[in-house]
Amino acid sequence: MIYLPNLKSPSIHLFLFTFLVFLTCITCRREDQHKSGHQKRDFHTLSNEKVKKLVELDPPQWNSVTEGHLGKLLIPRASGSENNTLVQNYISSVFTKLGWHEEKTPFTDTTPIGEIEFTNLIYTFDPSAPRKLVLAAHFDSKWFPDFPANQFIGATDSAAPVALLLHLAEFLTPLLNSRKSRISSGNGILNEIYDEDELAETTIQIVMFDGEEAFRDWTNTDSIYGARYLAETWQETFLPSSHPLNRRRLSPPPSILNTIDVLVLLDLLGNKHAKINSFFRETDWLHDQMRSADERLQHDNLIEVEKGEKEWFGRLKLRGGIGDDHVPFLARGVSIFHVISNPFPSVWHTLKDDATALSLPALRRWNRVLRVFTCEYLGLDPDTIDTRSTKRSVDELVRILDQSPVDQKAKEGR
Ligand SMILES: [Zn+2]
Repeated sequence: MIYLPNLKSPSIHLFLFTFLVFLTCITCRREDQHKSGHQKRDFHTLSNEKVKKLVELDPPQWNSVTEGHLGKLLIPRASGSENNTLVQNYISSVFTKLGWHEEKTPFTDTTPIGEIEFTNLIYTFDPSAPRKLVLAAHFDSKWFPDFPANQFIGATDSAAPVALLLHLAEFLTPLLNSRKSRISSGNGILNEIYDEDELAETTIQIVMFDGEEAFRDWTNTDSIYGARYLAETWQETFLPSSHPLNRRRLSPPPSILNTIDVLVLLDLLGNKHAKINSFFRETDWLHDQMRSADERLQHDNLIEVEKGEKEWFGRLKLRGGIGDDHVPFLARGVSIFHVISNPFPSVWHTLKDDATALSLPALRRWNRVLRVFTCEYLGLDPDTIDTRSTKRSVDELVRILDQSPVDQKAKEGR
């Protein structure tokens, strides 16, 4: 990703940028008034007790910055390389095991170093759901021609965000499966807080972009290869006439892009000193929700916060100054929440962006913040996980104990 424009260059650029931001803010405030309430969704804020339960669910927290998923991802994995394929296969194996729907979009594009094969990976919990929350990160690392630069790993860019999404998918799957089986047996929860039949109409999709990095210098044609391809493909793929969105008779007819509630893009995370600002007025409320999740976790001591790390979520409302995988989607009207550290990590695009750049407390904090955020977005309650099977086994145990002579003695002895 890249700053737009380059803020490192001296004052005239900064002045122009500030002026443009000022102008855009005025225009956009008008647009926002026009759109207000359009995309906002009921957020199911969880009680402190439920948040506590939720953070204790499997999978367990990481014990080191190189174990599990991260260990598999912390290798140079430039687009078109053998390692890139290895990483694709690893990501694929995780989601296949979880039972999510997989779609791969292989394609070839021309880059400054020749023709390269790219593959985006798309995982959907329920591909039949009419709408979705999309979480995304890029799994490629930046290509460098010569040794030692070609050993660049990109731990924060974006191995850690990919690992966080894999961890999140493992956590969400049992909750989503529980809900799915309740609904399919006609027992979906319906009360003043949850209407599971309705909630399940929004599924979760995790997109792993290939080819985010430029091969030379970041330009419109040398960067975000995978995201550009996918946004264009989805725009041109119209929904079947049976799709609920088609009943609204939209013009032009709805495409896959219309099924996206919001695209949450994670990038440059996993190190200390994260600074997450909100760039889009349409999704300021999501930034507020994520900050609230972080604050509640801090308040209840459910995350370890290193010294000086309290305020990750800035209150400044900025406007789109960072080029990244979201841009082609934004240009086509998709709501974006860009979760990126700004300023970038100091190790950005250097060999120092390896495992040593990662902070274990920061990764664990992200794991938990993302759990709370997605559960509250999707309306998932940690108390409902596998309730029927757990209840059945408890009932069975009680019955066995009631019949057991040992239990009778214990009861008599009381
Ligand atoms: Zn990068």
